[in-house]
Amino acid sequence: MKTPNALLSATGTTIFTVMSALAAQHGAINLGQGFPDTDGPADVVRAAADALMDGRNQYPPMTGVPELRQAVAATNRRFYGLDVDPDSEVVVTSGATEAITASLMALLDPGDEVVLIEPLYDTYLPVVRLLGAIPRLVRLAPPKWELPRAELAAAFGPKTKAILLNTPMNPTGKVFTAAELAFIGELLQKHDAYAVCDEVYEHLTFDGWRHIPLMTLPGLRERCLRIGSAGKTFSLTGWKIGYITAPRALASVAAKAHQNLTFTTAPNLQRAVAVGLAKDDAYFAGLAGALAAKRDRLSAGLARIGMAVLPTQGSYFVTADFTPLGFAGDDVAFCRHITEAARVTAIPVTAFYEGEAPSHFARFAFCKRDEVLDEAVARLERHFAHDSAAATLTSRAASA
Ligand code: PMP
Ligand code: GLN
Repeated sequence: MKTPNALLSATGTTIFTVMSALAAQHGAINLGQGFPDTDGPADVVRAAADALMDGRNQYPPMTGVPELRQAVAATNRRFYGLDVDPDSEVVVTSGATEAITASLMALLDPGDEVVLIEPLYDTYLPVVRLLGAIPRLVRLAPPKWELPRAELAAAFGPKTKAILLNTPMNPTGKVFTAAELAFIGELLQKHDAYAVCDEVYEHLTFDGWRHIPLMTLPGLRERCLRIGSAGKTFSLTGWKIGYITAPRALASVAAKAHQNLTFTTAPNLQRAVAVGLAKDDAYFAGLAGALAAKRDRLSAGLARIGMAVLPTQGSYFVTADFTPLGFAGDDVAFCRHITEAARVTAIPVTAFYEGEAPSHFARFAFCKRDEVLDEAVARLERHFAHDSAAATLTSRAASA
């Protein structure tokens, strides 16, 4: 028989599914796949339940229910001063995942080049390649994850159609600075290119770091498709409601992609997300504040065990260098080992790279209840204390 699609046949199951399955198998605390362990705001959940019951359960308008498109436009104005037309500049999708695919479909023709920044989220490369476009990868280096400007500039050329930019960034927790964004903006204008802006963690920033949408920079309003996710903003990851904000010329093409991918998205959930987006500023500040405290709690715990924890400015992930623990193996082995032996799961950071990559970092999600974070740290602490006691005994025996 003929082989099905070569690229997808060769694509592995996502690391998030793999590690969640392993966590379940070993009864491990899952700090791998990023999802909160408590539901989002009760009024938003209630609005969804009410919306299920009031008889609007058939296909909603293709680009999203008016309430949600208006709410997306209003939050763009409230948080970023962007003036957005809800009727022609917003497309609601089934999660940011669909929004990313639809945005790339809207921009790319086969042979176009796309600049991507590693470490990167795992859907980006397969989708770019499925569209016949050519990825140009630029790497950020730990521990600072600064933008390597010369390399980024060198990745742009006459065939560059777009950059895919994720800020706040998964898995690094980096929030791109105004200066870095300005540099990217100059390249976009110089090379007449677009940007797909994956901003799903837009409201999860800490310590005074503010998310700046690339779209708000002078001259970039017409070049950006800006993507948000209710899953992240309301701690309801299973709902899969995403939204694209883009100039009319791009939104209309992204809508065509959406028309051919899913056509519409659950109307009841859309209406509830509209309620969520109308929440007062205190909700958004409270979410970030609560997560900052969790970041500090988990980071301090991992540091106590001996890991070198990198700073996180946004998202709900910390990356930690486990070299000081003396584990003999790479990040994949480490994450597997702690899942099986300590019953705590993390994600190996090499999953966010193509090819050779730094292999001594693990990503931990901190969007969990405090007692769960504490128990995870306690398990790791017990395990590694025991491990190092065993190692000391072994080395004593060897030298005796
Ligand atoms: N982009 C990034 C960087 C993410 O971490 C995620 C995580 N879920 C997504 C996109 C997908 O968002 P959604 O669940 O809304 O599809
Ligand atoms: N974005 C989430 C993460 O990075 C996972 C989403 C998924 O499982 N596809 O952990």
